Amino acid sequence: MSTKLRKLPKISLHDHLDGGLRAQTVFELAAESNLEVAGSTAAELQLWFEQSANSGSLVDYLKTFDVTTALMQTKKSLTRIASEFVADLVADGVIYGEVRWAPEQHQLQGLTLDEAVEAVQDGLELGMHEAEKQGHWVRTGQIITAMRQSDRSLEIAELAVKHRDSGVVGFDIAGPELGFPPSMHQLAFDYLAAELMPVTIHAGEADGLASIRDALVTGRALRIGHGVRLFEDILFSHEDGDADVVELGPVARYIYDRGIGLEMCPTSNLQTGALNFVVEGEGEEEPEAPTLADHPLAVFLELGFKVTVNPDNRLLGGTSVSRELELIAKEFELSADEIMTLQMNAASVAFQDREHREEMMDVIEQGFGQLGK
Ligand SMILES: [Zn+2]
Repeated sequence: MSTKLRKLPKISLHDHLDGGLRAQTVFELAAESNLEVAGSTAAELQLWFEQSANSGSLVDYLKTFDVTTALMQTKKSLTRIASEFVADLVADGVIYGEVRWAPEQHQLQGLTLDEAVEAVQDGLELGMHEAEKQGHWVRTGQIITAMRQSDRSLEIAELAVKHRDSGVVGFDIAGPELGFPPSMHQLAFDYLAAELMPVTIHAGEADGLASIRDALVTGRALRIGHGVRLFEDILFSHEDGDADVVELGPVARYIYDRGIGLEMCPTSNLQTGALNFVVEGEGEEEPEAPTLADHPLAVFLELGFKVTVNPDNRLLGGTSVSRELELIAKEFELSADEIMTLQMNAASVAFQDREHREEMMDVIEQGFGQLGK
């Protein structure tokens, strides 16, 4: 399945630039700037990232980004990393990738916000051009992220809107979720709404339903990053040992009815402890650590939510879209049709023109259609 899966047309909607570098590139850039990193080979460094990311806490997980962002402070490094990012997407069979990153974290060596966005765009275009030369069809879009613990969100929202005709497709907030709700960034979200700019928000990862609701109400989010804790808004009956869905709570109902996309990232969700709520809810004093089997995505998929599956941070998770799909296909015994549904969901909630979304759906349908032949 794995080689086959890699060749099938796929979409990546939740993929951080600063979490998706090649270990080899981190290694080389660190050597160039005399920065010390863990390990003496790229393989050792890769392992260090994965182990550090397996912290069970979003706040600790985010600390690994100090290493990567330190190396992404020049036009040259941003362009290189963005072009490699696209090459790796293409190698994984991705036909459309949304690349998210926070320009405000790339100004330590004097880059302006505009220069940073343009440098990343140069890299994406370089990567797409290279892919095209090799006969691949790939499209990308930047999602400009503001950090939720900082106070620059309005400025970053303006940056996103300014570059919307040159590669930017949406806006996001990231960083520590708990204690930094979307309502702290009301001005930015009001501005984005007035500008009709698509918004996705990390929510329901390290905080609960109130955070998801705030992303919908204040943020007018068209998609939710992770949203695993939306599971808390689904009521089940346990009669006869079967868990039948009884009722969707108001937040789940809103998301279901309006086809709001859920950008789920299984490996990352395990690494950051986003699934701890599942085992903690079982009432045992010392619950065992959650496993992939505890991930609610298969339930959401079965219920008809717009579930999508994403890598979040390819370096930190040692992963890719194909690998995430492979893991969940095995765990939940998903059929090829269900994997295709995940891709169709992603195409339908992508921050692209409707015409482009339909075009991507055709490519996905054709690709998966050949599977049985
Ligand atoms: Zn993320």
